[in-house]
Amino acid sequence: MTAELAATATGWRTWRFGCDLCDRTLWTALDHQRTASDMARTNGWIVDDPTLCPACAIVAQHKERADETDRRIG
Ligand SMILES: [Zn+2]
Repeated sequence: MTAELAATATGWRTWRFGCDLCDRTLWTALDHQRTASDMARTNGWIVDDPTLCPACAIVAQHKERADETDRRIG
């Protein structure tokens, strides 16, 4: 899942970020994608491709490092 412009029940336009690995979702109260992305990044989200919540971002970073180590040893 990537960034999505969604409307709330109150009619607010808001950008929503969904983690690609788990079901965490970040709702912003910002109607511009760039400012919403900046806000998500400030909160530890990775909003490129894939979109990752802070917890999954840390796991992904560790995995990347572990894969690098494997390549060096292997
Ligand atoms: Zn996640």
